[in-house]
Amino acid sequence: MLTSRQLLETLVAFDTTSRESNLALIDFAWRYLTDLGVSCELIHNAERSKANLYARLGPAGDGGVMLSGHSDVVPVEGQKWSVPPFTLTERDGKLYGRGTADMKGYIACMLAAVPHFLAQPLTQPLHLAITYDEEVGCVGVRTLLDALAQRAEKPAICLIGEPTELQPVLGHKGKLGVRCEVKGAACHSAYAPQGVNAIEYAAKLIHRLTAIGERLSQPQRQDARFDPPFTTVQTGTINGGTALNIVPAECTFDFEVRTLPHDSAQAIADELENFAQTALLPPMRAIAPESGIRFYPISGYPGLFTDKESAAAQLIAYLTQSTDFSTVAFGTEGGLFHQAGIPSVICGPGSMAQGHKPDEFISVAQLDACDAMLARLAGWMCRSLS
Ligand SMILES: [Zn+2]
Repeated sequence: MLTSRQLLETLVAFDTTSRESNLALIDFAWRYLTDLGVSCELIHNAERSKANLYARLGPAGDGGVMLSGHSDVVPVEGQKWSVPPFTLTERDGKLYGRGTADMKGYIACMLAAVPHFLAQPLTQPLHLAITYDEEVGCVGVRTLLDALAQRAEKPAICLIGEPTELQPVLGHKGKLGVRCEVKGAACHSAYAPQGVNAIEYAAKLIHRLTAIGERLSQPQRQDARFDPPFTTVQTGTINGGTALNIVPAECTFDFEVRTLPHDSAQAIADELENFAQTALLPPMRAIAPESGIRFYPISGYPGLFTDKESAAAQLIAYLTQSTDFSTVAFGTEGGLFHQAGIPSVICGPGSMAQGHKPDEFISVAQLDACDAMLARLAGWMCRSLS
């Protein structure tokens, strides 16, 4: 039997940066599971260049627990690594390599635990999911969930193994990224009032967005479970104009909204769009009828807000021996699982303090502790369900 550490060594060696195919890693996991007698299913993307792996062991039927991790990693370009990123290197009790924390460490533990789960008289199914393209907008999990929706059997709980240092995490904010394109009318800058300055109208929109952000951060709107404890808005990029003596006809900016459970990212984007339509477009069109302001979503995922009284929260409290529930700032596939009717919690080895960085690592102690947690889960899954 392979240990989680041996499996991690193999997994790290596959360059699964999101722009690359993940099929070599998936093929390895498929062979490993098939050799153990577990039947797996691959759910490919449209181009068949990537795949999710889904497997079930134990009894058939509804319920049970799903372990889920993403196979892709973020790029190493532009980062200064002191070790080769795609070769597992041990130093002082730490295992270095891209994806060790986020989140091949968890996948390694998940695969290493399979023989133990197979040796137990499970009273409920164990589902395994390895997804693709999480780092570029939770893309792969959507096709996996579409496939799972076709069947009657549905896991009751999903454990997303994103790195939380094995602390029980119940959620994270939702996110919506939006692009806004402002189209005005160009003219010589000496006659500026005869044109429609797209940059200036974009500035009015951004100013409005900032005001919305200030309103959302009021003390009465805060939720102390999150950091920062309120919904945030942010403009990240802006492009427009060609020369100082030309009134710019075009300006595009991207903004994002990160929402608490009681806020709707779409409602916030709609509020800004409504301001654009009612307050900005009429004066723009009075000068140039071809003026326009367009909004469209570019990325996003739903938030995850699992109740602390839920069965999923109780299970993760049992597995970690802690009810010190918290939230994380980063997003996960959990919101999508939850939306598909599978209550989810986040708990995995390693820390996101190392994720996405050069010299990413996971400690041997964290890997061992995750193995122990999954052994505990195997025991829990043998209990009688009466
Ligand atoms: Zn991750």
